[in-house]
Amino acid sequence: MSLEANNPNRETWLDTPENTDFPIQNIPFGVFITRDDIITIGTRIGDYAIDLGALHQLGYFENIPLTDDIFLQDTLNDFIADGRKTWRAIRNRIAEIFDKNNAQLKNNKKNRKTILFTLDEIEMQMPVEVGDYTDFYSSKEHATNVGKMFRDPDNALLPNWLHMPVGYHGRSSSIVPSGIPLHRPQGQKLPKGADTPIFGPSRRLDFELEMGFVTTAANQLGEPIKTDEAEEYIFGMVIFNDWSARDIQKWEYVPLGPFLGKSFGSSISPWIVTLDALEPFKTEGPKPEKELLPYLKTKGKKSYDINLQVGLQPQNAEETIISNSNFKYMYWNMCQQLAHHTINGCPINSGDMMASGTISGPTPDSYGSMLELTWSGEKPLKLKNGEERKFIEDNDTVIMRAHCQNHEVRIGFGEVTSQILPVYKG
Ligand code: CA
Repeated sequence: MSLEANNPNRETWLDTPENTDFPIQNIPFGVFITRDDIITIGTRIGDYAIDLGALHQLGYFENIPLTDDIFLQDTLNDFIADGRKTWRAIRNRIAEIFDKNNAQLKNNKKNRKTILFTLDEIEMQMPVEVGDYTDFYSSKEHATNVGKMFRDPDNALLPNWLHMPVGYHGRSSSIVPSGIPLHRPQGQKLPKGADTPIFGPSRRLDFELEMGFVTTAANQLGEPIKTDEAEEYIFGMVIFNDWSARDIQKWEYVPLGPFLGKSFGSSISPWIVTLDALEPFKTEGPKPEKELLPYLKTKGKKSYDINLQVGLQPQNAEETIISNSNFKYMYWNMCQQLAHHTINGCPINSGDMMASGTISGPTPDSYGSMLELTWSGEKPLKLKNGEERKFIEDNDTVIMRAHCQNHEVRIGFGEVTSQILPVYKG
């Protein structure tokens, strides 16, 4: 099925702000609660949220095979499980409905009232029920920087790193959408020079600038996914802030990897931008530096040119932009990640979330964590209000943004905004 919805020349009859992340060519998917307290699946064009459940009930998706309640759900899991053919048919139809030259809904005031919401009339929810969450470690710059700080500057990359997309299983239960604040975690830490740990609030609280991808049901137990088929099983992407407590992490992570220093929270942007919408922004990633095993080889453009930005905003103060990076710096692409994940036969389900790992660029202003930006606290960042930061302080808000731009169209993700509250007092 063609990607009609991507036509860069299409205009919409809806009023959309200039430079919006959500032009009619985007058509992301999300879940929101309406002013009448109804939860529904929706899309967004400009600053309008569009109720897909209402569109379906009013017959706008006729001739597309869908169950009656496919959009009247509180997660996208079933819709995603319907597969790429359905996602494409729906995006194409939505593009038609809101096309400038289509008067059907435009001239139907009653239906418009049922279907369209302004953003202040809705509240975004988690778009999927995340069954399993896997976090990779796929930026060479990030792995090198962390290796230099945590281990050995001369052997920063561990021997396996250039041969496989290293990952670990995280907790899905603490993934929250943009706008939900998180408490500073407490835990065990080993003070410098001490041989016994202490307990207390993390003093090295950090963000990780990542992108996550959401899968459809892909394989049976025992059945690997090949790199050249992997894209069929990727529904779309979100911005992913993988909050990290560096002091807790450093003490606990040997030998089984990250645990409580990570599982207290991860924040995502609430609109899933489909891989189809990102098609015009495909690009080649870095060339492999070592010969890859056959199951990890990929051909052609498997990465995406997605501009990434991080802002830090202290309470009642202006935001300071502290990093500008790009998804295309990732050494391992999503197809390699999915192939590696399933090479042992591990099944992937609809609504699973795979995060990229911190995305750091080659220059210090493109690093994707405070750990790297301040080089473990040695070089504090100066903020616009005159304050300095080594790590994230109580009541700070971290804002991540992502968008793609070419000469024809801008496709964006909006933002994921989250505030850190003081330690939970009960
Ligand atoms: Ca991470």
